[in-house]
Amino acid sequence: MKKIVILGGGESGVGAAVLAKKQGFDVFVSDASGIKQKYREVLQKYAIRWEEGTHTYSEIMDATEVIKSPGIPDKAPLIKEIKARHIPIISEIEFAGRYTKAKTICITGSNGKTTTTMLTYHILQQAGLNVGLAGNVGKSFALQVAENQFDYYVIELSSFQLDNMYTFRADVAVLLNITPDHLDRYDYNFQNYVNAKMRITQNQTENDVFIYWQDDPSINQELTKHTIKAKLYPFSMKKKDNTKSFVDKNNLIINTEETDMSINIDNLAIKGTHNVYNSMAAALSASVMNIKKEQIRNSLADFEGVEHRLEPVAKVRNVMFINDSKATNVNSCWYALESMKTPVVLILGGTDKGNDYNEIKSLVEQKVHTLVFLGIDNSKLEAFFGKLNKKIISTSSMDDAVKAAYLAANKGDSVLLSPCCASFDLFTNYEDRGTQFKNCVKNL
Ligand code: ADP
Repeated sequence: MKKIVILGGGESGVGAAVLAKKQGFDVFVSDASGIKQKYREVLQKYAIRWEEGTHTYSEIMDATEVIKSPGIPDKAPLIKEIKARHIPIISEIEFAGRYTKAKTICITGSNGKTTTTMLTYHILQQAGLNVGLAGNVGKSFALQVAENQFDYYVIELSSFQLDNMYTFRADVAVLLNITPDHLDRYDYNFQNYVNAKMRITQNQTENDVFIYWQDDPSINQELTKHTIKAKLYPFSMKKKDNTKSFVDKNNLIINTEETDMSINIDNLAIKGTHNVYNSMAAALSASVMNIKKEQIRNSLADFEGVEHRLEPVAKVRNVMFINDSKATNVNSCWYALESMKTPVVLILGGTDKGNDYNEIKSLVEQKVHTLVFLGIDNSKLEAFFGKLNKKIISTSSMDDAVKAAYLAANKGDSVLLSPCCASFDLFTNYEDRGTQFKNCVKNL
């Protein structure tokens, strides 16, 4: 009997284990740290063998195939050993893709994945399709393939998942943008990360569609190197050669072989230039799936947005508080600032990932009057922004940061939490940071 070993007992690993078991494989799950109670219960229910706190090499090295959690880096000694023995290592998405004939819309990019995935899912679901939401959001793809009978899936893919995908084919592949991120996992070589992202197009045929941002220099450079068989559906603010979605006189236009439609930008539920792009990508995907114009338009207008992404929290004495805790790199903060229509008090800081703040310097100069730093070590921020003629307040707790920002704000201003940094110095994760922000605002 073929043996499938699954490394990592989280959402994707346990989903893969259930699917493998249902397919009749001998299955073993191994997690170097602890497995959450809710996942243990699933493993028990399906009588799947598992271990935690260790990796038993003898159990692992006789696998026919290994499914690796995207969280485990290739440099881990265990992974090196598996590779040395030529045991194939795949991702959960690759595995699950073998057991479904559903149509897939796969979404990747450095920023905007979750927003675009949720928005696309919203459109398909509102249109009445039998659709699942998978990948980095919601339940794992493999679990849904095992337990549901969806006809369509909208799947958010990180570069780490793409790394271990080989034969999987996306009916619609979406590549939103490529900017430097996660370089620690790619030998500090940007090209390696770009290569991972481009894998989204591999195995696509003439019947498939590749949707991408036409103004991204990295994507454009890759397009000169790769022969992509899929139909190309680029989007851009301005119409150029072959542009399938663009803005004309404040209207978002979709013009493809499937549809010709427009929606006023002011009617889009999610605001800011980046969300115009995300709306274009989602609308193009939906139009490829032959969703009616009216339904696309309605869903773009009534989408509720995603928590911690430019999320309006509350207006306190005419000061608007906005939670963009998910802005964990400088590029996403750039888009947040760009979307601001009022003077801004900006709260930023945390664990720096080698940030270059020059990218947001001119927007800070134009729109921000006070900077509130929030981190254990704010020295890099102080050195960079100290040169600008702005009010600066250094804090090391969310409560202090919110109070200081509120005091500094004038009526009509916005207080924006868009940190540019990871959250691990003071918070469990970005969700914890955003939730604490919202609680502090409520306590004002
Ligand atoms: P991801 O899942 O790729 O991390 P999210 O949708 O969670 O992306 O958004 C993360 C952050 O990036 C948010 O703070 C948001 O304001 C910003 N953002 C969203 N879409 C884009 C985009 N298309 N380009 C640049 N930044 C974006």
